[in-house]
This record gives sequence, C-alpha cells and structure tokens, in this order.
Amino acid sequence: MDILNVNNISKVYGKSIMFNALDNLSFNVEEGEFIGIMGPSGSGKTTLLNVVSTVDKPTVGEIKLNGKDILHLKGDELALFRRRKLGFVFQDFNLIDTLTIGENIVLPLTLDKVEEKEQDKRLIEIATILGIGDLLNKRTYEVSGGQAQRASIARALINKPSILLADEPTGNLDSKSAKDVMETFEKINRENKVTTMMVTHDPLVASYCNRILFIKDGSIYNEIYKGEDRAQFYQEIIDVLALLGGRN
Ligand code: ADP
Ligand code: MG
Repeated sequence: MDILNVNNISKVYGKSIMFNALDNLSFNVEEGEFIGIMGPSGSGKTTLLNVVSTVDKPTVGEIKLNGKDILHLKGDELALFRRRKLGFVFQDFNLIDTLTIGENIVLPLTLDKVEEKEQDKRLIEIATILGIGDLLNKRTYEVSGGQAQRASIARALINKPSILLADEPTGNLDSKSAKDVMETFEKINRENKVTTMMVTHDPLVASYCNRILFIKDGSIYNEIYKGEDRAQFYQEIIDVLALLGGRN
C-alpha cells in the first residue's frame, strides 16, 4: 500500500527568467519503505523534501499522504498535520540546548498537551528502541553527535508519524557516528516499520536504504532497489552516480 503519492509536481522559481527546480516529477512510496533521494547539487532534492514536508508548495501537481491531499491544508489543520503525521530529522539535529535530551524528545507531546504520565511512558519506549535510555537527563552538549542525532530521531518518532523525513542526517557526523545513525534508521525501519525518506549525497549512507531515487534537473533520472547485499547496492549506487555526473 502506498503511504505517499507525488503526482506530476513542478516547482518554478523566478518570474521573468523561470527555472524549473522540480519538473513534472512523480513517484510513490510504499508503507514501510526506506527510500533515499540522491542527485547532483542543485538537482532539486531539498526542494522535493520541502514540498513533501509542506514547508514549501509546488507550483503545480498533487501530493497525498495516506490518500489525503496535503497541499490544501491551512492554519491549525496544517500545524497538526506537521506535528502528528510527519517526523523531521535535520543535518544539525535542531535540539534545544536549554532542555535535557529527554525534554527535547517529548517536546512534540508537550506542545500537544499530552499528560505527563503518558509522555514518560512514550519517552521510555522510544528511548529504549533508540538505545539512548541512559542519556535522558543529559544536556545536548554532554552527548556525542551520533547520540544527539539519535535523540532527534526519537523526537521525530514520538508522535508515531506516517513518514520520517531526513535531509542529510549524517552531514555533520564523523564516519563512525554516521554508521551508528544509519544502523539506527535501518533498525527502526525494519523492526518498527517506520516509512523513511532520506536525502543524502553519500553512497555509503544511501546503501542502508531499500530503494534510491536519483534526481537530475528536477526529474527522475533512475531508481534502483537493494537486493540481498548492501555492499553490492553500494557499488550500484556509485555506478549510477558516475553516469549522473555533477557534484553530488
Ligand atoms: P539540491 O538540494 O538538490 O542541491 P535544491 O532543491 O536546493 O537542490 O535546489 C534546486 C534548484 O533550485 C537549484 O538550482 C537552486 O539554485 C534553485 N533554488 C532553490 N531554492 C530557490 C529559491 N528560493 N529561489 C530560486 N531558486 C531556488
Ligand atoms: Mg539540498
């Protein structure tokens, strides 16, 4: 079953000189998929993530999440949609330094005025899944980059969103922490069936996905699925990137 339908979206920037950042782009994401978006710098990856996350609107086209049109939501409905149906993970974690790790993770529930007892229950549950149960009273500057990113994944998941969206989630991490974070994404996708869409320029990071959609000049260039073997998939990703050209 599809979770996400992106149908013929275009995003045009500029007035006198028009530029198609997204050009009649279509694809679907199935429930439980872990999809990676790759493409050269300027190909439209961030624009795509922004229109799916309702941060930005396409010029034309249709986007549905769970069969529901998301482009015409307004006001409270839009705010609730973002908070309850979408989980975001950013390159720079976006944790609040004056709060503890635990307080950061439950922030979406605090905003939703969920009872404290229920907040604690869900915090323990999600922190255990992400292996950060012993860090909840620490401050953001007392944990490693990998741990901070796992905390931000926990925050993104605490409302059980329909889809988890991540833009270069390993962009600020050293290679060991990046591996750690990608194993976390892989685990929650496999064991908790979290549908995930991630933008990355790093083929090793991308090899943790089940499918990669390659974008060029705002259109789909190619897509490949992972078989049994991650090392093999990594090589296939590198081969497509070589054909695709440009700076990734
Ligand atoms: P990527 O994330 O793949 O590097 P982006 O989605 O950020 O690419 O950008 C796609 C294209 O759209 C680029 O050529 C970029 O310069 C252009 N673009 C992005 N945002 C704007 C904007 N606000 N105004 C005009 N052009 C933009
Ligand atoms: Mg980008």
